[in-house]
Amino acid sequence: MERIYLDANATTPLLPEVVDAMRPFWSETFGNPSSAHQAGQRTRSAVERARANVAALLNCTAKEIIFTSGGTEGDNLALSGVLQPYLDRREPVHLITTRIEHHAVLYAAESLERRGVEVTYLTPSQDGVVTSAELQAALRPHTKLVSVMLANNETGAVQPIGEMAQVVKEHGALMHTDAVQGAGKLRLDLSGELKHVDLLTLSGHKMYAPQGTGALFLRKGVTLAPLFHGGPHERQRRAGTENVPGIVGLGKAAEMARTWLEAGETAPSSPASLSALRDHLEQSLQAAIPNAFVNAWAASRVPNTTNIRFNGIDAEALLIALDMQGIAASFGAACMSGATEPSHVLLAMGLTPAEARSSLRLSLSRLTTPEEIECAIPVISAALTRLRSLH
Ligand code: PLP
Repeated sequence: MERIYLDANATTPLLPEVVDAMRPFWSETFGNPSSAHQAGQRTRSAVERARANVAALLNCTAKEIIFTSGGTEGDNLALSGVLQPYLDRREPVHLITTRIEHHAVLYAAESLERRGVEVTYLTPSQDGVVTSAELQAALRPHTKLVSVMLANNETGAVQPIGEMAQVVKEHGALMHTDAVQGAGKLRLDLSGELKHVDLLTLSGHKMYAPQGTGALFLRKGVTLAPLFHGGPHERQRRAGTENVPGIVGLGKAAEMARTWLEAGETAPSSPASLSALRDHLEQSLQAAIPNAFVNAWAASRVPNTTNIRFNGIDAEALLIALDMQGIAASFGAACMSGATEPSHVLLAMGLTPAEARSSLRLSLSRLTTPEEIECAIPVISAALTRLRSLH
């Protein structure tokens, strides 16, 4: 059975070019980049080439890129790194974030709250978007950091980060954005539209590089307390010997993403764009299944994501049925100790727990083909019709 992978927001497949770029660094090219000898110099220059490629993707300087182990570390380093010094000095400090963040930000914020940071959580509209007006109203004299994600992992809704960063800058605070689900899908310009963003998180495995890789952009002049203590790696901001093969893979993925974004091309496997494939999938399922609603449909969304609510359906049962039919999808819910919790993102958008539990996330990758989408539509429709008939 050919399997169809529609869960790219959970992790993307590795591009073959990325695997090829990494291969030598698992075997013959193995020096420690901190070593002065030639073996070390070879890996050092590979790490610096990768850094330049990540910087080029974001239109910032290479010195502003810190390599991390992924999105979770980048988010924690950003929040804790900016706010901990205020706690150390026992100064009042306020953080603004949103209810729709990934747990990497939400739980980091909760941990800071337990340590004494005041936190405001902004609520999105029904479309899953938080506005700059709400942000403006939440600012306090001691607000030091605002953290709002660029694109939501469950709905794909894109937040007005450029506009928010301008508001934050005028207030004299710092702006962080978790761009894990935006990188490689949208053009991110830290010298243009995002010029007032101070920190930005990336994760390799959402952009065709390996799991366990990532980067944090830290604007020149912004200081950060490190999370890890050890060697002087990453200009003293992230101790620990670099994951050279992973960093090389991330650099290659960034180079490829920049090429396709500059060319305005999103889906090499298809003459249609990624968003056209997504829209076709979405519209076909809505046409086939009564009472199917797209969550966040009115928002500007990343091109690969749809989140559809099929009222009356248990999305968990649907996922199991789809998996048995060879389709990998997901739903906006976290599985904690065996109990399925309704998605905090959909609840924040005003859905009821029952509506949240009936929502399915389908996320396409650059390797998804039109043929796969044509195959998936009748399979998903049939599974939904079967589940509905059981009621
Ligand atoms: N932020 C967002 C928006 C994500 O979607 C994810 C992963 O799903 C993360 C952060 C965490 O990234 P990582 O898995 O690289 O730790």
